[in-house]
This record gives sequence, structure tokens and C-alpha cells, in this order.
Amino acid sequence: MRIAFIGLGNMGAPMARNLLKAGHDLVVFDLVSAAVESLVAAGAQAADSPRSAAAGAAQVLTMLPSSPHVRQVYEGEAGILAGVAAGVPLIDSSTIDPQVTRAIAAAAAAQGNPMADAPVSGGTGGAESGTLTFMVGAEVSVFDRITPTLAAMGKRVVHCGGIGTGQAAKICNNLVLGVSMLAVAEAMNLGVSLGVDPKLLAGVMNASSGRCWSSDSYNPYPGVLEGAPAARGYTGGFGTDLMRKDLGLATDAARHVRQPVAMAALAQQLYELWSARGGGRKDFSSIIELLHHD
Ligand code: NAD
Repeated sequence: MRIAFIGLGNMGAPMARNLLKAGHDLVVFDLVSAAVESLVAAGAQAADSPRSAAAGAAQVLTMLPSSPHVRQVYEGEAGILAGVAAGVPLIDSSTIDPQVTRAIAAAAAAQGNPMADAPVSGGTGGAESGTLTFMVGAEVSVFDRITPTLAAMGKRVVHCGGIGTGQAAKICNNLVLGVSMLAVAEAMNLGVSLGVDPKLLAGVMNASSGRCWSSDSYNPYPGVLEGAPAARGYTGGFGTDLMRKDLGLATDAARHVRQPVAMAALAQQLYELWSARGGGRKDFSSIIELLHHD
């Protein structure tokens, strides 16, 4: 199938590679030409705008940083909606505001294009190994149509309900992730300051009730896990600015429904502070550096 793929960053590039491996024809677009070139070297075709990528595609997938980028790529002058044929399903895997998802879906529906929000969990490792979890908000018929495409990039494809519900589930998951990373970072710093070896401490927590993904798969303390961003100067991975954005989405969504989210609000401010101090582009587990004592 001919698939348009827009947004070839830390997540999008390996996801697009997995679609190529599954035998799909890919037409790709990104603002960063090096990202496009690397996919072209793997067998994709380059387009000069989202509009031209979408023209002639049987499905369209986007993996962009946040709500304004998604709006621009779908609704801009050279955007997807200006080029796509009626009836073609549009899949947005970015993590964005569910209200923005619903607004774009309404514009797409008005010209005959069904839309699904399909944000992911599993990180860059999951994107590379094709083991992501997709949280999908869409009508059942659209979900059934796009599931084979998503299954080429992930091991779980979960139908969460109507449009926007994938984003809601994703935002709740990242609320837990943002808060749990701060807890693990605090505990690792404290344990080491009290004289415990960091690897040993992580091992104890991972065999005890403190075990969580932030501790056993993505530990923020350098030297504990070979494959984690902490082992490579917090490069790659999931940026602090993206976590800051996701916790902002959680607190915004919570305000609309008058749901208290005290931990999310505190965590959002700590990632905000870390971003202001220069940590925005590093992986979010680098928040441990903000919490070090001098
Ligand atoms: P990224 O910043 O690495 O990549 C985003 C890409 O989008 C970049 O290549 C950028 O050039 C491109 N882009 C931005 N504006 C564009 C435009 N107008 N037209 C075309 N391309 C444009 O981000 P990422 O880490 O790949 O994350 C993408 C999304 O997935 C985010 O919403 C993030 O919250 C979510 N996410 C990330 C992870 C992770 O571990 N990195 C995990 C789960 C979900």
C-alpha cells in the first residue's frame, strides 16, 4: 500500500522504516532534509510538502511534536487536507490535545476523510523493534481498516473509543511516567548520597514495590542501564520538552473536567524549570541532573 508518512524524528523515522520492511511504498516529508534523505536511502520516496505526500496515498500517517505542528501539517496551505483524496484514512500518532484532534477530525470528515488518533507508548526502543502500543480513538470501521498498518509498527493496537480517546489514554499514561521518573530520580540521588551503589539500589527497587518502567527499563542514573539515554548523555529518547508538553496537556484536560491532578501539576513545573535551565532538548530522564545537590 502507498502510505504518506510525515514527521521523521526520533519516533517517526524508525516507525517509517518498519512500514518499509513490511513491504509498503512510502512517500515521506519532514522539515529536516537529513531525516528525509535517510529514509530515501532505505527505499522511501521524498515529497516536497505534506500536500504532495498525501496526494495518491492510500493512508496518511503523521508523527509530529505537538498540537500546532499537527494543525499546520493537516490544515496549512500545503497541508494534507489540501492534497488527500476523499475516503483516505488519516492517522495521527503524535501526542496532542484531544480537542485539537477532534477539531482536525471534523475538518477532515467534512471533506470525506475519516480520522484516527493513534498515539503510542514504548519509546524509541519500541519504535525501532516494532513493539509499540497504539492507543486508538476512531470509529470501529476506521479502526478495523487501519489496524494492519499499525500492527506493522507495534505489538498492541488498542481501541480506546471514539476520536480523541487515544490521546486521553496516552496523556494519562504519561502523567504516570512523568511523575514516576521524578520519584526514581529522587530516590537514586538519595540512595547514592547515602552511600548505596546505584546499580545495587536499582536492583533492589526492581525486585521490590518501587519497581516501575522508569526504574527497570529507563533508569535515569548513569551506569545503571546500558541501553538507556542516561548511558549516552541523555541524547535521543523522549525529550524533556515533550514531557513538559504532555504534562501540560494533562493539566489542561484536567481543568476542563474539574479533575484535580496535583502530582501532574508539580511534575509539569519541575520539567518546566529543567527546560528553562537548558535541559529541554535532552531526554526527560535528565531531570535527575536538576535534582542533584552541588
Ligand atoms: P521529534 O522532535 O524527534 O520529531 C518530530 C519530527 O517532526 C522532526 O523530525 C521535525 O522536523 C518534524 N516536524 C516538525 N514540524 C514539522 C512540519 N511542519 N512538517 C514536517 N515535519 C515537521 O519528536 P519524537 O520524539 O519523534 O515525538 C513525536 C511525537 O511522538 C510527539 O508528540 C511525542 O510526544 C510522541 N512520543 C514520543 C516518544 C519518544 O520516546 N520520543 C514516545 C511516545 C510518544
